[in-house]
Amino acid sequence: MTRRAFFSKTIGTAAAVGAAGLALSPAPAQDKPGPILTRTLGRTGLTLPVVSMGVMNADNPELVRKAYEVGMRHFDTAGVYARGRNEMMVGKVLKDLGVRDRAVIATKVLVPDEQRRSLPAAELKSLFIRLAEESLGRLQTDAVDILYIHDVGRAEEIIRPGIREALADLKKRGRIRFAGFSTHVGMTECLEAARLDGFYDVILTSFNYALAGDRALLSAMQAAAAAGIGLVAMKTQCTQNWYKEELPGDQRKYYEVPILHTAVLKWVLRHEFIATAVPGFTTFDQLDTDWSCAGGLDYKPEEAAFLEETSPAALAYCVQCRSCLPSCPRGASIPDLMRAQMYAAAYANFGQCRQTLEAISPGRGLSACFSCAECSAACAQRVDIAKRIGDLKTLFV
Ligand code: SF4
Ligand code: SF4
Repeated sequence: MTRRAFFSKTIGTAAAVGAAGLALSPAPAQDKPGPILTRTLGRTGLTLPVVSMGVMNADNPELVRKAYEVGMRHFDTAGVYARGRNEMMVGKVLKDLGVRDRAVIATKVLVPDEQRRSLPAAELKSLFIRLAEESLGRLQTDAVDILYIHDVGRAEEIIRPGIREALADLKKRGRIRFAGFSTHVGMTECLEAARLDGFYDVILTSFNYALAGDRALLSAMQAAAAAGIGLVAMKTQCTQNWYKEELPGDQRKYYEVPILHTAVLKWVLRHEFIATAVPGFTTFDQLDTDWSCAGGLDYKPEEAAFLEETSPAALAYCVQCRSCLPSCPRGASIPDLMRAQMYAAAYANFGQCRQTLEAISPGRGLSACFSCAECSAACAQRVDIAKRIGDLKTLFV
């Protein structure tokens, strides 16, 4: 496939999720949300609607404005999203609306893995503080409500000297209200470590229907919430249309109907240890669909049927379990590569794809795959690693 073909295919598919998959489902009158379901975000005491806005893929300020107007109060962004422009958009919209004091802003500071490992604690601390201050400037705010360490995958990272001191310093000076970290990989290990450690107020974790069978993760989340850590769910709608290519024919029908998104989002939110979710909608139709879940989490018959008939393992979603790592002779960081490919193919967010690749340790990213004639890596689930690596090679050839 040529680069042009890959781009047009993925952009077309991502657009179809909103334009066809969701827009084909005009909500009947009885689907309008009733009283909005809210929950408390752990020890922060913040009370939030269960549906919030993951701003990562959005580039339309009107979408952020509409999200606030319908009732969303929590906006999740990051310094690296759109290289800072995402934060600027969130900050400007909330400022223009005059509602900064009524909205909860969460943002993230990413220090690449290599620097996290190699920098002395004092340098790491000042680097983190500098990046956090830059975020506050872009957000046009004196303080953010939640500041996350972006992309933590190992327990050792949450206790490493440097970043913790930076977070404590920012908190002491009133530049952040609460500290946390985001995690896409090694979530169970990180949740457990944070619970025992007691420092972090909030954790933003991947959680979706494809992870339904991960009992260890479910237990770790439950225990973390019981210990007072606020849990926010991301990557909630693992099941983008394009996954259907890897599904058996009899299951593809579910990817043609709009009900899927509400089914999987409700599935996440029915776990009461999740305070709120940050789905990354990019269209007004998607916003309406996701927000409808805040009005009630009972399954409609078709949603229940979808979940009953669709095995989580069949979703071909990379659950970031790392089981594939030993199968790569070059030590490629396959979970990160799969996540980068997801940003491009499922979200059409090529900037985030590139940044995810750039954050991988030298020698373990796509360069390892370019020197590999044939992919021999094997997934413990159903992910076609070779195909997705091939997609990335096409993009970055
Ligand atoms: S590609 Fe498969 S084995 Fe590797 S992390 Fe993802 S789900 Fe796990
Ligand atoms: S192409 Fe596959 S086997 Fe080769 S380096 Fe990349 S992940 Fe490993």
